[in-house]
Order: sequence, then structure tokens, then C-alpha cells
Amino acid sequence: MKCSACRERLPAYQDGVLAAGAVADLEAHLASCEGCRAFAEEMMIVEHRLARLSTIEPRADFTQAVMQRISALPAPATQPRLHIWWLGVYDALAWVVVALLAATGFLRWKTIVAEGGVLFGKLALCGGALYRIADHFHLTTLALFGGLIEGAVLLALLYAGRHYLAGVRTAALSGAHTS
Ligand SMILES: [Zn+2]
Repeated sequence: MKCSACRERLPAYQDGVLAAGAVADLEAHLASCEGCRAFAEEMMIVEHRLARLSTIEPRADFTQAVMQRISALPAPATQPRLHIWWLGVYDALAWVVVALLAATGFLRWKTIVAEGGVLFGKLALCGGALYRIADHFHLTTLALFGGLIEGAVLLALLYAGRHYLAGVRTAALSGAHTS
């Protein structure tokens, strides 16, 4: 028997659970090998020391003492809550600022309204022109039929996909069961 095999089987031997045939081999090796004998002795000593270790019993009032210390700790600081009336304050402040800007001439309502109106008008003109161009090339009809065809294809794919995926899942599950 090699030293490595001997040392591997020592714990089982010392616990008395090593097979009878192996016991004879191991004892023969121990008798002839000083190194393994010393190793076995050391293992015995360690095991005895471990066996003599007493388990630590907590004090009877351990839980109470811990809970008392916890309750003595300062309470964690709570987040300051944002009260709803702050929204009113912010709103009032915003109005005051807007009013000040308007009064001092920084905000020109008429200009803003006029510019906005012009912008909307331009957008409407652009939209109309685009529509006329698209209509000229029958793009609206094309888009309508294209959308319908795409929707039909998508529905077919979804239907096929659901059936196909269900098959795949069943196959995967049955595969998982057999493996
Ligand atoms: Zn040995």
C-alpha cells in the first residue's frame, strides 16, 4: 500500500468503518512505515481534542440582552417627507416668476402666440403637401394595402409560431424528463 492510499483511508480506519480486507493492508503498512504511523497518531490526537471541545452555550438571557441593546440604539433617521403643500408653493413661485418676466418685458405673449401660430400653419401646409404628393403616386392606397398584407402575415406568423413553440416546449420538457 502506498502512503497516500494509507493516509486517505486512515479516517475510515479510525472510525472503524474500513472494510476488513483493507484493514489488514493498512495495519501492515502502518507497522512498516514510520511516517504514516506518526501521521495516524497525530490524527488521533486532533480527533480527541475535537471531541473534548465543549459546545458554547449562550447565556440564558442572551436574546433579551441583544434585544435590549437594539432597542437602546438610536432610531434610524427617517427621510423628510415631501408635503403636498410644497407643490402649491412651487406653483405660486413659478407664477410669480412668469408674471415678473411678463411685466418686465422679457416674455412677450403676443410674439409667442404669433410665432406658434405661424409654426402650426407651416406644419399644416407641409402635411397637406406631403399628402398630395403621396396621393399623386397612390402611396396612400399602397400603404393601406401594404399594412393589411403585413397584418395578415403577422397574424399567420403568430398563429404558426404559437403552435410551433408549443411543440418545441413539449419536446424540450419531455427531453428534460428522460435525461
Ligand atoms: Zn506510509
